[in-house]
Amino acid sequence: MKLTIGHLYPDLLNLYGDRGNIQCLMKRCQWRGIEAETISFELNDRIDFSGLDIVLLGGGSDREQMIVCEKLKEIQEDFKKYVESNGVVIAICGGYQLLGKYYKTDQGMINGLDLVDMYTEQGDGRLIDNIVLKSELFDMPIVGFENHGGRTCIKENQPLGKVLSGAGNDGVSGYEGVIYKNVIGTYLHGPLLPKNPQLADWLILRALQKKYGAEVELTELDDTQEKEANDYIYKRFVK
Ligand code: GLN
Repeated sequence: MKLTIGHLYPDLLNLYGDRGNIQCLMKRCQWRGIEAETISFELNDRIDFSGLDIVLLGGGSDREQMIVCEKLKEIQEDFKKYVESNGVVIAICGGYQLLGKYYKTDQGMINGLDLVDMYTEQGDGRLIDNIVLKSELFDMPIVGFENHGGRTCIKENQPLGKVLSGAGNDGVSGYEGVIYKNVIGTYLHGPLLPKNPQLADWLILRALQKKYGAEVELTELDDTQEKEANDYIYKRFVK
């Protein structure tokens, strides 16, 4: 089995080392004997979504999002088809905001990909904190760090998790992130996946099942250290 990961615009969207998430996905595949390859796309590269199994959109500043958003118009149709046919996506912070219809900032409007029915508007001040979530998808909590000026409204969509500590989508709803088909959007920055191995495996398993059939299962890995790191953060901010 083989997975190809598409990393979109790492030269612009790579805040706080979101690239570490790619390394985590690659390693967790390789440890299981699953071949993994990453293709990084720069702004002017043509993207063939049919050859990708997981797409990562990282975080970026408003300025970088503004640059990227011009390009998104060109890839929107193909990206939408990928998502609607259950393609796997992990979108982080600035990338998460770009999944929606728009991100309205004091400096102007950033049009998004409109892949998920949601939108973001800049609020007063930034939401900067360590954050812990409880997600229905996993028994382990999801832990991470958030730093965003945008407040995201996910409408009727399913959130990634309930906020146990931190601000989340808008600082008031009590929820964080979004799940739509095989797309996960979240404000939690890199290294999100190394600290949350169940989330990494969810992406890998969904991608493998889409490609090779629903009967594919993942072998267990020794996640002692990952669990300890996750538990340390959980206890520090929640208990
Ligand atoms: N520019 C966006 C905001 O401030 C996202 C920032 C980020 O990716 N950390 O809301």
